[in-house]
Amino acid sequence: MKVWFTEEWVTGFMIGIQIESVVYIKRTKYQHLAIYDTVELGRILTLDNVIQTTEKYEYLYHEAIAHVPLFSHESPEHVLIIGGGDGGTLREVMRHPEVKQAVMVDIDGDVIEASKQYLPLWNTGFNDPRATVLVEDGLRFVAETDQKFDLVLVDSTDPEGPGLALFTPEFYQSIGKILKPGGMLCAQTESPLAMPAMVREIYQRIAKVFPVAKLYTAPVPSYPGSLWSFTCASFEADPENPLREPDDSWNLKFYSPEIHRSMFVLSPKIKRDVGITY
Ligand code: SAM
Repeated sequence: MKVWFTEEWVTGFMIGIQIESVVYIKRTKYQHLAIYDTVELGRILTLDNVIQTTEKYEYLYHEAIAHVPLFSHESPEHVLIIGGGDGGTLREVMRHPEVKQAVMVDIDGDVIEASKQYLPLWNTGFNDPRATVLVEDGLRFVAETDQKFDLVLVDSTDPEGPGLALFTPEFYQSIGKILKPGGMLCAQTESPLAMPAMVREIYQRIAKVFPVAKLYTAPVPSYPGSLWSFTCASFEADPENPLREPDDSWNLKFYSPEIHRSMFVLSPKIKRDVGITY
């Protein structure tokens, strides 16, 4: 008998992934956490029945959210990751020798612990001596911290449940206050093909706070619409041009300087839908 995990991407459109076995399930304080081994996508992590990350495609998302801001910042020494409990973004951030300190703040310690134990592909950044992992609400952390950062990466769940706070104007304003001169915010901003109205709302909120707000996209076949958006924002820095290149020894699968620039090329429909005027 075939057993399927299904996720309704948008009303009336569902995808199915054939499950081989259940690795781990827990109702945490904040969400329903599940890790499965699947026939086609390898190991996957879901939260509240929404796919977060899959062994087959995780590199697309994590290389896109990390390397665009890191390579376009002159000297990314202090990096803050909000969310990112699976560890994939931290893993990519830690590849950069310029990074002196990375602080990851996820609200759910159970996601972090399960990832450390069951997601070996994702978890290699956790033991880096430059990394500090905190279990705390990201909204509260950015509002209360005294520290300033070169980059803030927001690797959140969707704007529902605990993730909702990470899409509020208040959150973006607080990030603006903890960026060093030349600093940048880079946030995952949902699917421009599957949920254009949501992307527009999020993008416009960010653009109200930051004079520079640039949307870029990367293919992620396991997310709604199979195309995901990110927004890099700052008071002056431009994220479109890479200033350094990855080392060959990193063996990246998606990111390159050419891909970096190409990710900022948007279709006319996406520009219209999101209200992008640059
Ligand atoms: N890369 C995947 C994606 O975009 O779907 C996964 C992102 S990662 C698993 C999302 C993390 O955000 C989760 O671990 C969740 O616990 C965390 N999160 C949700 N709300 C949060 C909040 N208010 N503060 C900090 N972390 C939060």
